[in-house]
Amino acid sequence: MDKKIPVGVLGATGMVGQQYIRLLSDHPWFEVAYVAASPSSAGKKYSDALKGGWIVEGEVPAHVGSLIVGDVANVKRAEGSCALVFSAFEMPDKEAIKATENAYAASGIPVFSNASAHRGTPNVPMLIGEINPHHLDVIPHQQKANGWKKGFIVVKPNCSLQSYLTPIHALIAAGFDVEKLIITTMQAVSGAGYPGVASLDVIDNIIPLISGEEEKTETEPLKILGELKGGKFVPIKGLSVSAHCNRVPVSDGHLACVNVLFGKKKPSMQKILNIWKIFRGEPQELELPFAPKQPIIYRDEPNRPQPKRDRDADKGMAVTVGRLREDNVFDFKFVALSHNTVRGAAGGGILNAELAYKKGLLDV
Ligand code: NAP
Repeated sequence: MDKKIPVGVLGATGMVGQQYIRLLSDHPWFEVAYVAASPSSAGKKYSDALKGGWIVEGEVPAHVGSLIVGDVANVKRAEGSCALVFSAFEMPDKEAIKATENAYAASGIPVFSNASAHRGTPNVPMLIGEINPHHLDVIPHQQKANGWKKGFIVVKPNCSLQSYLTPIHALIAAGFDVEKLIITTMQAVSGAGYPGVASLDVIDNIIPLISGEEEKTETEPLKILGELKGGKFVPIKGLSVSAHCNRVPVSDGHLACVNVLFGKKKPSMQKILNIWKIFRGEPQELELPFAPKQPIIYRDEPNRPQPKRDRDADKGMAVTVGRLREDNVFDFKFVALSHNTVRGAAGGGILNAELAYKKGLLDV
């Protein structure tokens, strides 16, 4: 590639926004050319707008530190500056987030979003590259329905389901239908953004509620594993999910304990391990820059995965699984882990954009 594709980051000063800036600093295709945040940051140099400072690894990349921050609501300022935006901004009202993302798409700028606002929109794909890359086929329908020419919206699912859904998909894709899942998550504090959960609430404690998270964990997998029919998504039939979501005193890395009940066909333990070992998705086949080489890594040690030791597997993009054993209520149980602000947020968003680029959806 002679010239990198200029991209923008909306919410660039936040937890996920900073991960985007860090991960994109030496990306082979994309280069950060535009940053935007709330009106209180707009007009400042990026490095001066970081309210709690630079909170991710390394240093602010020099060329981004000197960019002047735009106001997310000012779509005109982004036009001509970037060929796509990664959306990681917060607003008190979901409808306002939706309207803002729509405005970018309408102005011809594709949006790769981390927000939940559009996850339920029937013609917006909720993408995990290894699971449902074909859901990008909805984009022409989405553009036609909205009268958008070059712009479109792709969303990422909630970070809580990132760790276990690829292992479950691999089993379904190998011919073993899953009927029931019970998921118990232990989610890191970085999942709440910056400054996030008050230290006095979370140190020496576990909080058994993350508002709205259980509903997302129970419904989003059904759309992701569903089919695209007539320009809309039809949720997978015959699968039900029950979730407990807990906030735990861990900085990064969401862990999930999973109980699985299969349908008529039940794999052996060895078969499951083999399916996970050989599983590859389209990002691996296309050798996308952010694709982990092995998307599901199984650890044999009886006390893994652990957030501290496993969240950075393959630059934070691989899912680490362990403790597969028989369950005396359901069929099997296991533990899964993924990095919530990398695989579950910025890294996953970048992988989605890489996929869209390779499929010729970006007009660059
Ligand atoms: P965060 O650390 O609180 O950052 C919020 C960002 O939104 C900041 O850049 C902030 O800008 C901006 N913002 C706040 N109010 C705004 C407004 N009225 N208009 C425009 N921009 C505004 O949150 P985060 O954790 O990065 O989360 C960002 C998005 O990603 C959320 O939708 C979240 O649900 C989603 N997400 C987060 C994670 C995670 O693990 N943290 C994972 C998956 C998805 P200022 O600095 O100027 O205030």
